[in-house]
Amino acid sequence: MNYTAIRKALLRWFEKEQRDLPWRRSHDPYAIWISEIMLQQTRVAAVIPYYERFLRRFPDFHALGAASEEDVLAHWAGLGYYSRARNLQKAARQMVELGAFPREHAAIRELAGVGDYTAGAVASIAFGKAEPIVDGNVVRVLSRLADRRAAATDRAGQSWCWSQAERLVRAARSPGVTNEALMELGATVCKPANPQCANCPFQPECFAYRMALTASLPRPAPKPETRKLHQVLLIPHRNGRFGIRRIPLGEWYAGMWGFVRQPYDSGAPEDVGVLRHTITCHKITLTVRRCDAASQTQDLQWLTLEEIASHSMPPVERKALEMVVKSLDL
Ligand code: SF4
Repeated sequence: MNYTAIRKALLRWFEKEQRDLPWRRSHDPYAIWISEIMLQQTRVAAVIPYYERFLRRFPDFHALGAASEEDVLAHWAGLGYYSRARNLQKAARQMVELGAFPREHAAIRELAGVGDYTAGAVASIAFGKAEPIVDGNVVRVLSRLADRRAAATDRAGQSWCWSQAERLVRAARSPGVTNEALMELGATVCKPANPQCANCPFQPECFAYRMALTASLPRPAPKPETRKLHQVLLIPHRNGRFGIRRIPLGEWYAGMWGFVRQPYDSGAPEDVGVLRHTITCHKITLTVRRCDAASQTQDLQWLTLEEIASHSMPPVERKALEMVVKSLDL
């Protein structure tokens, strides 16, 4: 593919067709970063009023870092995925320590809640660095344009997309504008269903258009095979207290508080019920079993229900605890 010609066509199109969005009027890395975080999993139209209100209340990283978490969450309420707001504040405090907004991709990537996409977006748009970005829009445009008939969202497909995006942005005079233009084309023209190929600057070169394959590209990654597991969740109790442990690294839900899981053996009189849930590609049947303190060898904290309520616990394990409580008639 001739990336120079593609880039030129893309930039000409973007100059005429881009939407007027508030973050496009700013070169402030802080404002660009806030918009990129808000736009993750949220539509542009929904983000605009939040973005404007948030920036009025927290105009820079000093203001955000000094605010209370409650205040930040109140200005985020309605956007969902609250870990994004908590990470924003953590990152703002990292910047206060650094004394500035970091300029290099690697340093931006070190901020809480920032992955390759956001680091590339801020580095290219705010600082003009030749850093690629790949999101769902970019994957779609590139796979259709450049003949990616293999899956585009698995590891190999992602690495292919990053290398194509990198080639597009590498020699660009305005890497940030190139990245924005590619995403804009994906969002407004090269849509998942019914792409508007007649309005697309890539139409003459586009592989999917010429081969009438727009409906089947990008090809999704094959779904991983699901595995069925039957486990027992052991819930120890004594004198109205329950033994919980911090779930260690290497187990599901590491870092949260919960109970010990082990492979199902056979039924026991202490079994109080069965729950079903899914983790990644595992479909799990979970037999909930109460047990006494003596049968537990792990380091446990013995807490009342009120104390456990303030600990972070996987919802399925909290539900299992409720089943045990009911069976004990506490
Ligand atoms: Fe997408 Fe159609 Fe443009 Fe190809 S020609 S990039 S399928 S909008």
